[in-house]
Amino acid sequence: MQSQLPQTRYWSFRIDVEQLGWLTIDRPDASVNTLSREAIAELESLVAHFEELAASGELIGVILLSGKEGGFIAGADISEFDAMSDFSILPEALKRAHALFQRIENLKIPVVAGIHGFCLGGGLELALACHYRIAVNNDKTRIGFPEVNLGIFPGFGGTGRSIRQAGPVDAMQIMLTGRMLRAGQARGMGLVDKLVRHRDMLRWEARKAVLQKRKSREAPFAKRAMAMGPIRGYVASKMRAEAGKKARPEHYPAPYALIDLFEKHGDDPRAMIRGEIDAFVPLMSSSTATNLRRVFFLSEGLKKQGAKNARFARVHVIGAGVMGGDIAAWCALRGMAVTLQDLDMERIKPALDRAKGLFKKRLKKKREVDTAMLRLEADPVGKGVARADVIIEAVVENLEIKRKIFAGVEEKLKAGAILATNTSSIELERIAEGLQDPSRLIGLHFFNPVAQLPLVEVIRSAFNSDEQIAAGAAFALAIGKSPVVVKSAPGFLVNRVLMPYMLGAVERVERGESKELIDAAAVAFGMPMGPIELMDTVGLDVGKSVATELGHAVPEGSKFAALVAAGKLGRKSGEGFYKWEKGKAQKGDVSLPPDLAGLGRELVKPLVDMTEVVVGEGVVANGDLADIGVILGTGFAPFLGGPLKARADGRA
Ligand code: NAD
Repeated sequence: MQSQLPQTRYWSFRIDVEQLGWLTIDRPDASVNTLSREAIAELESLVAHFEELAASGELIGVILLSGKEGGFIAGADISEFDAMSDFSILPEALKRAHALFQRIENLKIPVVAGIHGFCLGGGLELALACHYRIAVNNDKTRIGFPEVNLGIFPGFGGTGRSIRQAGPVDAMQIMLTGRMLRAGQARGMGLVDKLVRHRDMLRWEARKAVLQKRKSREAPFAKRAMAMGPIRGYVASKMRAEAGKKARPEHYPAPYALIDLFEKHGDDPRAMIRGEIDAFVPLMSSSTATNLRRVFFLSEGLKKQGAKNARFARVHVIGAGVMGGDIAAWCALRGMAVTLQDLDMERIKPALDRAKGLFKKRLKKKREVDTAMLRLEADPVGKGVARADVIIEAVVENLEIKRKIFAGVEEKLKAGAILATNTSSIELERIAEGLQDPSRLIGLHFFNPVAQLPLVEVIRSAFNSDEQIAAGAAFALAIGKSPVVVKSAPGFLVNRVLMPYMLGAVERVERGESKELIDAAAVAFGMPMGPIELMDTVGLDVGKSVATELGHAVPEGSKFAALVAAGKLGRKSGEGFYKWEKGKAQKGDVSLPPDLAGLGRELVKPLVDMTEVVVGEGVVANGDLADIGVILGTGFAPFLGGPLKARADGRA
């Protein structure tokens, strides 16, 4: 007698008249599917059921789909990772998942995955255990292994199976970078076998695949050859060198552990899968992975802020300089209709040219670039003000000019529109004073370069209400940025904590210490760039004015003051503390002491101290927000979990 169809919460299963089995994953109480332990346990009982039905001839194939609008499966359930890290639980749990996926692969009937939207991590590993994969070829499909961003690598057999399908070079590349592929790219690599245009075509195509018993083809010999014999050692050493450019093994061990595994077993997908568990387990409980999970959850937490159902269709930006021009371009890239105002067309034109460059880089297709350009309109007289849902002022840093602009704009505003300034240093209350309703003005402080830096500080003045701040946060989220709410106080969060760190380093250089050594030490600690190179990148003039604003006037007669006076402003002028060529600081050789990271820790101390002060003063609501804000705004070592976490752990 056949066993009963098991009761499941995550999965539904039915067999149609053609004896095709339709398996749908639809996680209860969540908008995305994740492979939790419960989902895996339920799938085990379902697969046992399939084995019986297949043996008795009652089932001729299984089609795996997602019931969620947003996508297939976003990965394993990260909220379980802390508990799972336990050495007494994890190896068993992994063995269980490995065995389950192998049983799916061993089923005698075809198993076909139909993919739309996100198919990531554990979701992709499950799809790879199926015999054939069909994906929707639209903008929403994203296929990849983001595990490395959490300090681990694929642990459900994805290492060996992706190599089997895509070949070692492509598979390792996507596992090592966490890069997400579009459907066409995944098809090109062999991770997906067939593309369809719409989600509603998945069922039909999957049905055909089962009836025709289609089976995915493994990577051709020419690709697999890159993992064979002595070539593999060479390929592995190239990969290590490449990984070394991005991260150090002592900070981020996962890529290196994956390369080691590849070097051992890269020519044998089954052996690679078997070796996966031993290499994976120590990573999961490492401090890097624990801290990266913290960073992940803190970033996710930022997404929960903001007014629900807020809609922003039109943005008006005043000031088409470095910041205003790039903010306008970014908003247009993210689909909004943008008007961009400056004193005349001449001053707007360069911003439009830069926008085109950004659109070409990000959107690639000419038609999409042209459409984005149509969304961005030069508006020297400010006719866009009256229709805008959001107005962002980014003119020169001058209180009187800003006040005048807001006075002119206020009476034309649409009810409910957000009125924001991008000021870096002027107290919001002083700008707002001139308004009839000072509570309307919030700060939206973007960082330069706008397209690259994810943080927006949403600045709260003494006049603002919670609703206005929530609206500002919602807008930042709508354009794909991460909002952190900060009180209007000099330097806000990021500039306030960066300045003592950068100026401390400059002082050392003034005293004759090597700038190369200082920068190398900060990088060894885990900063993305050393403080002197950072000062050159920000611009010495900008650095000097922020320093002055924060009460650290640059002393007359200092090297710093002399450089500014000579117009040596850093990267943008070709020379600052360093000479710059083709966007690169020209660094001299320097001998590095053994405890380089120790020096880095000393250098970073003022940043960590100031983060504590800022939290103590209530400039940000709590330490968690300070940690994520400083990580997003300065690149502070994510593997340490933020400045305060690093200090609590005795590492900063
Ligand atoms: P910028 O000098 O590059 O651009 C300012 C623009 O404002 C110029 O194009 C100028 O023509 C225009 N402008 C001046 N008066 C105007 C008026 N009355 N009407 C319309 N346009 C007018 O300056 P920027 O670096 O883009 O800075 C702009 C604002 O952003 C400042 O408040 C600054 O503090 C802030 N900010 C700058 C940075 C940065 O790194 N540059 C970072 C964050 C915030």
